[in-house]
Amino acid sequence: MKPRYDVVVVGAGPAGLLAARAVAENGFDVAIVERKENISVINRACGQSLLPPNEYFYGNLFHYNERDRRFCFPNIGLSFTYSGPIKKLYDWHLVSPGMNSIRFGYPDNYTPPVPGMVKAPIALSYDKEVLINDLVNGLKGYQVDIFPRAEFTNITWAGPDVVVTAGGQQFHSSYLIAADGTNSQVVQRLGFNHDRKHIANIYAQSFFVKGFESKTESEAILTGVGFVQEKPVYIFCLPRPEGDLWNILFLTFEKGIEVGDAADKLMHDSRFARSFQHIEKVREFAAMEHIYTPIINPFKNNVLVLGDAASCQELECLGAMITGWKGGLAIAAALKEFQLGVAPRAVGEYCDWWLNTYIKQYDYQGYLQVFGVAYMFPRQDIIDYIFGLMKEPFPPTFNPYTAVRLLGNKLQTIMPQIFAERPDIVPELLPKLFAFPSEILAKTLKGE
Ligand SMILES: Cc1cc2nc3c(=O)[nH]c(=O)nc-3n(C[C@H](O)[C@H](O)[C@H](O)COP(=O)(O)OP(=O)(O)OC[C@H]3O[C@@H](n4cnc5c(N)ncnc54)[C@H](O)[C@@H]3O)c2cc1C
Repeated sequence: MKPRYDVVVVGAGPAGLLAARAVAENGFDVAIVERKENISVINRACGQSLLPPNEYFYGNLFHYNERDRRFCFPNIGLSFTYSGPIKKLYDWHLVSPGMNSIRFGYPDNYTPPVPGMVKAPIALSYDKEVLINDLVNGLKGYQVDIFPRAEFTNITWAGPDVVVTAGGQQFHSSYLIAADGTNSQVVQRLGFNHDRKHIANIYAQSFFVKGFESKTESEAILTGVGFVQEKPVYIFCLPRPEGDLWNILFLTFEKGIEVGDAADKLMHDSRFARSFQHIEKVREFAAMEHIYTPIINPFKNNVLVLGDAASCQELECLGAMITGWKGGLAIAAALKEFQLGVAPRAVGEYCDWWLNTYIKQYDYQGYLQVFGVAYMFPRQDIIDYIFGLMKEPFPPTFNPYTAVRLLGNKLQTIMPQIFAERPDIVPELLPKLFAFPSEILAKTLKGE
């Protein structure tokens, strides 16, 4: 341990590891403090799919360069090794409680319209443990000090130094990067959460399973909404990148429901049960996330907040990587500005990018609408009915923001049909459709 670092990074997820690399590549001293004992072991539920490789996301395109086995982000000059397996996923099916399904994907007879164009996947299933391991290995050339079993517990300031306590030790640095994920303790400690609205908590349990019967081709992602004690529980099913394993995730906002019991119920005693008849659980994961509105200005008292820690619920792995890399470069430039005595601008430019690219272009309300479906359409039979009206496939996407926009547009076009066929549901439906999803979630969950 050095007496002083240029930068201390809290959290060795995708955001923290790429931020550390960006700072260290520029010759500065970096320490990473991480609460896990084994950094590359993933215990937290995650779909482990990278999205969306077929469209811009937070101002970036990304792809997997199979020849060199690297993830590449050409817009920001980032690429790094990923030595694990990849499965390309082309379709996303959303299934209603009564088994009506809508699909985002290519038409059956699709051929690229122009030679040289490709049929791009909507997501890549990958192995997050290999990814994290590769990112850690990528730091080896840069003398980054990594401290496992070092949970962040406190932050103070002494003159120009940020002083962080983690794992019982004190670390001094010029800057701190907070990349400790969705329930960030650094963010809480710095008071950022006072200015954010807490919307809900989400509880997740997930399993890698053998023997799952998807009823669709293996390259498809399935999302279902089931009801347990009349409360919605979402199911996400994603094929693992190799072999016949599937990643099955159960999520609910409902505190009164034990998500593990709900998962059991849906797997054994629901319309979804047929797909789970022969499964064998291979691994188990869990997560609980506080859902807040995003942080508008992620820099305060020489602390820059990156990745999920700054966003609404989650930025997706891609967002974590992009902000990790860009934020790390901004801090490296800020250190250089200080050395040269030039006016600071790099961190301000990063914050402008965050404001203009994420906050202004990716409305968190839109993101929450994916989970809001079961709350916006107030009854199971209404979800079935509306899904039944959307028979044509939607364009290929697994980007929640794009999917919600496409669904919203479609809903507008079928509104006259709903008015004509089901005037009985209109009084229930309309007020919820025009309310913001975060308001609906917050109010419904408080029982108002
Ligand atoms: C149920 C679920 C499904 C998801 N599915 C997908 C998906 O399919 N695709 C996708 O792209 N994204 C998905 N995500 C989101 C994805 O997991 C995150 O966006 C991504 O991991 C964020 O990266 P990060 O580096 O910001 O934070 P994290 O990956 O959360 O990393 C934070 C790190 O900080 C450490 N840490 C936390 N607190 C402390 C502390 N006090 N002191 C020290 N260290 C600490 C943690 O141990 C962790 O290593 C999913 C999330 C959930 C919950």
